[in-house]
Amino acid sequence: MKKTHLTETRFSNLELSNSILRSLRDANFENCSPIQDQALPLALRDKDIAGQAQTGTGKTAAFLLATFQRLINDESETIKNPRAIIIAPTRELAIQIHKDALLLSSHLDLKFALIYGGTDYKKQLLQIKANVDIVIGTPGRIIDFYKQKAFTLDNIQVMVLDEADRMFDMGFIKDIRFLLRRMPAPEKRLSMLFSATLSFKVTELAYEHMNNPIMIKIETEAVTSKAINQFAFSPANEQKIPLLIGILKSHKPERCIIFVNTKKAAEQLSDYLGANDFKAATLSGDVPQEKRQRLLNSFQENKLPIMIATDVAARGLHIPDVSHVINYDLPQDAEDYVHRIGRTARFGASGEAISFVCEEYAYSMPDIEAFIGEKIPTQTVTDDLLANDIKQPEKRPSRSYNKPRKYPSQKQSSQNRSRPPTSNSNL
Ligand code: AMP
Repeated sequence: MKKTHLTETRFSNLELSNSILRSLRDANFENCSPIQDQALPLALRDKDIAGQAQTGTGKTAAFLLATFQRLINDESETIKNPRAIIIAPTRELAIQIHKDALLLSSHLDLKFALIYGGTDYKKQLLQIKANVDIVIGTPGRIIDFYKQKAFTLDNIQVMVLDEADRMFDMGFIKDIRFLLRRMPAPEKRLSMLFSATLSFKVTELAYEHMNNPIMIKIETEAVTSKAINQFAFSPANEQKIPLLIGILKSHKPERCIIFVNTKKAAEQLSDYLGANDFKAATLSGDVPQEKRQRLLNSFQENKLPIMIATDVAARGLHIPDVSHVINYDLPQDAEDYVHRIGRTARFGASGEAISFVCEEYAYSMPDIEAFIGEKIPTQTVTDDLLANDIKQPEKRPSRSYNKPRKYPSQKQSSQNRSRPPTSNSNL
């Protein structure tokens, strides 16, 4: 994290034990990020926290450090199985939290179990049965193991719910309530909830299952950050590919995520980008876990400049410093817009968030603008923005939305687009 994004508060001035401070020092964490600065002093005094913060703000360290300290303070140390539980909506997020937990507990004697669906059933079952301190995982498999009595929730002293709004979106909320109801009462545990947005349903959950949580709002970087240059185009459907390729050619993004709404659209785009010599990988929900991780690593190591993703596949991914987010399809849910563009301009870096307000998804725009509380400036699709000579992919998609079209289309008229002409200096 960039120093400019940290506060004056040093970890060494907080009520953290020496073993935690040593681990922090080894990880090169000296000063708190704003969410850590606000949440830690409270959580270290056993106050429940409901924090509005996205990935990239340092929320993970905030809840991990508070969890570690609470377990260190705990005198009944021998009772484990487990003492803390951290629930995340996706396996990628769970893996990332576990990674951070290992980093920040290097001088602590804590045992973790990492539990998520899709793979390693037996291995994880053995892990969770091994009297661990902290379980980190996704709801489905945690419940599966709980129901077979592989562990108990009776000794839970710390409960963390990460990306709570996603839990609702992904239909996990019944699972979450199931788990919460089986833990010690809210007054007997420390509970921390983090969410990109503290919507009504999230705060309701917080009040129901937490002990008078203190609400902390870190100005959602994605929404308010002046470092994100947000703008939109209103292309006709047949202009979307030429416009995208035109943008990729003129911007030459270092690391770009292109969001689409469906797997089909991802495939179509992948075919077109491939045919037009762009190196891009697709991250849709059905890409196996190992392959996802491999693709992500290549992306992170700058070996792969473009990632095409659906919201489901991108949830919880930890991708720092994306230079461009392109909403090839405008999201149908306003909160997804915030999640998507939040992947750029992290830690004070600048970034571009470009949205296509196309015929199919334009209806989402008023909701998005209302949700973020600002108007997204629109630029006219002028002919010079549209790429010429689009090569057609060999593999032709089938659905009508994906109907293969010839994209000659630099000469495609853009005069009759409804949005007013504005400067296109960003391109
Ligand atoms: P998160 O929002 O929890 O995903 O954290 C974003 C990134 O910032 C992670 O790579 C963390 O390791 C890093 N980070 C979090 N807090 C700090 C800090 N206080 N100092 C330096 N790096 C940090």
